[in-house]
Amino acid sequence: MILILLGPPGAGKGTQAERLEKRHGFRQVSTGDMLRAEVAGGSPIGREAKAIMDRGELVPDNVIIAMLDRRLAAEHGHDLILDGFPRTVPQAEALDRLLAERGLALSGVIVMEVDEEALAERIVGRFTCATCGASYHERFRPTRASGVCDRCGGRKFIRRADDTRETVLARLAAYNAQTAPLLPYYRKTGKLHPVNGMADIEEVAAAIEAILAGFAAELELTRK
Ligand code: AMP
Repeated sequence: MILILLGPPGAGKGTQAERLEKRHGFRQVSTGDMLRAEVAGGSPIGREAKAIMDRGELVPDNVIIAMLDRRLAAEHGHDLILDGFPRTVPQAEALDRLLAERGLALSGVIVMEVDEEALAERIVGRFTCATCGASYHERFRPTRASGVCDRCGGRKFIRRADDTRETVLARLAAYNAQTAPLLPYYRKTGKLHPVNGMADIEEVAAAIEAILAGFAAELELTRK
């Protein structure tokens, strides 16, 4: 089963994808995480992507599509939750083609709807555990014990280079110009499921669970 989590930066896609992994055994496919790993590894893709990401712009479609193609091959047979992909109409068209080539089809697109004004606040202040990747926020989701990861006890945390107030504005502009056209694209397929991303994390998770309940049979099938 293949699901897309769509929404502007800071909508909570990563947090919900993490939950879906834990609860239902989905594999989270985050093109942002993949690019950050390429940057950290100093690969040619990473070197090309770094400056673009720091500006809050989108990495070229051909680079992203080739990266996703390789990842789809590696994740063969797993339920996937796509987080941060597709981000443009050409990427969505390529996804349809890549899935069809593998005899797969998109199950649904969950759209996290949020107020733009709240996004900068949500993004600036985010951090993740360097050991296990659990996500936190200084104000909205702090660690239970100061400086200690709730999940693994790690004490080292990382912040994204692009989670600054200036870059957030550019990322939002990119979303509105290049990613928002995906809404009519997927609405036409009847696969779009909006959720209120302004609700608290548990409520958003419950809304997503209700949508997933409609796919229960499909989830069972891929497990067999
Ligand atoms: P994210 O972690 O999804 O917020 O992505 C961080 C940054 O990586 C974005 O601001 C883009 O520069 C780049 N990026 C991630 N996914 C994509 C994508 N599907 N298409 C183009 N650029 C992407």
